[in-house]
Amino acid sequence: MSKTDRENGGCLCGAVRFDVNVPEKQFAICHCGMCRRWSAGPFMSVHCSGKEAHISRDTGLCWYRGSEWAERGFCSKCGTTLFWRLAETPEEMLIVSVEAFDNADQFRLAEHIYVDAQPERYAFADNCPRLTEAEVLAQFQQES
Ligand SMILES: [Zn+2]
Ligand SMILES: [Zn+2]
Repeated sequence: MSKTDRENGGCLCGAVRFDVNVPEKQFAICHCGMCRRWSAGPFMSVHCSGKEAHISRDTGLCWYRGSEWAERGFCSKCGTTLFWRLAETPEEMLIVSVEAFDNADQFRLAEHIYVDAQPERYAFADNCPRLTEAEVLAQFQQES
């Protein structure tokens, strides 16, 4: 793999740095209640290959197991929202906050998920697909 396939990023204070392989330069926005509380807004994230994710500096990285099947990674020093992954098979994929990338401008919005959990106090003006929780879970089961 060439160096250009890798994307770098990190937290606000620099205690956590990572580089990952990004199959597609796009991100999704999750409107579920857990993501909104955790990231102080809808969680905008990029699907990365977990096998090729490399945490190059982890002096502040902390994992919080928010549900039976998933855990959330953040910097314990500055509080930056960073990662979401499956707790049982963490090597399979890594969901990374789009705002944590050094070059976030290259990513394009692909879809909204958990829109049935979205509150009325905000709205996005794009025309990308909007999936409910049931639609997301159905898609997920098809893939695995
Ligand atoms: Zn930090
Ligand atoms: Zn969510």
